[in-house]
Amino acid sequence: MPVANVLAAAAKYDLIVKGGRVIDPSRKLDAVRDVGIANGRIAAIEASISGEAAETIDARGKLVVPGLIDIHTHATRTKEGPALCLADGVTGFVDAGSQGADRISEAIAVAQSAPQLCRVLINIGRAGILPEGDTMDLSRANVGAAREAIGHNREMIAGIKARLSRDVAGANDFEVLRRAQEVASPFHLPVMIHMGQTMSPLPKILAILKPGDIVTHMFAPPPNSILDDAGKILPEVIAARRRGVRFDLGNGRTGHLRWDIAERVLKAGFLPDTFSTDWTPEGRADQVIDFPNVMSKFLMLGMPLDQVVACATVNASRAFSVFRKRGTLKVGAPADVAVLEMRDGTFEFVDNFGNKRTGRQRLFPSATVLAGKRVAARS
Ligand SMILES: [Zn+2]
Repeated sequence: MPVANVLAAAAKYDLIVKGGRVIDPSRKLDAVRDVGIANGRIAAIEASISGEAAETIDARGKLVVPGLIDIHTHATRTKEGPALCLADGVTGFVDAGSQGADRISEAIAVAQSAPQLCRVLINIGRAGILPEGDTMDLSRANVGAAREAIGHNREMIAGIKARLSRDVAGANDFEVLRRAQEVASPFHLPVMIHMGQTMSPLPKILAILKPGDIVTHMFAPPPNSILDDAGKILPEVIAARRRGVRFDLGNGRTGHLRWDIAERVLKAGFLPDTFSTDWTPEGRADQVIDFPNVMSKFLMLGMPLDQVVACATVNASRAFSVFRKRGTLKVGAPADVAVLEMRDGTFEFVDNFGNKRTGRQRLFPSATVLAGKRVAARS
């Protein structure tokens, strides 16, 4: 008998999330449901679950969604990062290139001690993120060093990060990306590029992205945005998506997100595959705040709620194989759940250029369940 049936017969749960509006785009579900959890897994989703439970979360009037997956953070920069993200509903994340080969063990140590599932991308620049530019000195994009680091940490390194803007890579951008692909190739790993304000034209860069690679900061303004001078999506961008390249938000704080670009891109029907925060400890107090806040910006821009949730859950689970069974509330899945509160009111959202917009709704983290257990709320 399948596990789920045994549980239903016993009707005993470790935890029931009661009466919330469950939005699970992986199953096209949007309805008021109880979510029963046992042994760290989703055991039942029904209109009303009457079985016994050791603990109950009252989710009436709230949204219940799969645990959020944030594919571009810098949460390993501090020991506290993962737990802070977890309290915001983030039950899985990727640290995207905080460290290169020289100090990747520091990022990995934080990732391994994190309560939730996380992986790191290795920065192709061996010294990681540098104020003077990760790969301004091209010798830092060292293929051998990166390959060796991956070889020693296959389990924890989920891909390669190449930051390509002119203040990071300068005129080396294309060669840096070429080397990142050289690193990735024997391991069959994805490369995530940081686009926007590059020296090389975007089509030249996109040409060497393979299916499964990720373009982050997709709403970066010119030079070299995803729009042409007339405000249309570049044909090379559409072609890249068609062959399986993913496009990601990467909210961040400087140079990556401008409302007018986002508006034009969404209006053209080119929706992001994934949202990500580009979370840093500083971002927690400025612009990013938390993942639900980042999601709320796209409600303001007119994206439907189910698509907003999909970008933070099921779509993100497809970007890295380690998350494959997550981003869903289907019976049998790991019981990672985010309970969010949608508040109506007047909320100000700021892009990376100080432009303000007012939204009428904002999502707030309310409760997080990780592997079937409720975790402490955001302090
Ligand atoms: Zn970043």
